[in-house]
Amino acid sequence: MPRKLAHGSKIILATSNIVKKREILNLLEPYGLDIIFSDNLKPKDHEENGRTFCENALIKAQAYLSGDSPVLSDDSGLVIPALNGRPGIFSARFAEEVGGYPRVFEVLEQELSSSKDYRAYFECCLVLLWPEGHGESFSGRVEGTLVFPPRGYQGQKNYDSIFIPEGSTKTFAEMKLEEKQKISHRAQAVRKLIQYCLEP
Ligand code: IMP
Repeated sequence: MPRKLAHGSKIILATSNIVKKREILNLLEPYGLDIIFSDNLKPKDHEENGRTFCENALIKAQAYLSGDSPVLSDDSGLVIPALNGRPGIFSARFAEEVGGYPRVFEVLEQELSSSKDYRAYFECCLVLLWPEGHGESFSGRVEGTLVFPPRGYQGQKNYDSIFIPEGSTKTFAEMKLEEKQKISHRAQAVRKLIQYCLEP
């Protein structure tokens, strides 16, 4: 039997990433959870050294587990098959290492210039970790194509402006929140969480 989160339940959202917060909160809003943001909490020392999105999401959630509230964490990234899956679980670190955004877009464009294989997908794993240490994971994935130069880039610290999801002509950065929420990797994962842990 799945364990349910009741209306008014306290949960800790273990992310300070504004985009993740906005997308997760937008979908959870109708369920009346009492969401505590991790920004002012001090995580336990931890290293995100997992080999998968779900392993890293679990490490993040464990770092914020302290009292009797469950913790919800997200690990996600951009996977490019022509680059053997890079940057993948290292998406945030990779961007930082090459000089941040938008510089990372030029680096990727250059790296893909010989293969011209622009297929890519975003993946997200959400972990809901209960106080006694039991965790549930929920994944989502959206396939698409990379486009250069970026479209809709307004200083976002993510890859939205170079990613066109399958079936669309717009990049994620050119979409309104509601449009991205219909298809995104994160929205798929949040919907699974809702179905499993929130709906009666
Ligand atoms: P994390 O905080 O280690 O999970 O880093 C995830 C990184 O993957 C982010 O910093 C972004 O660079 C990238 N990423 C994850 N989800 C998205 C998305 O929805 N749009 C664009 N970039 C994303």
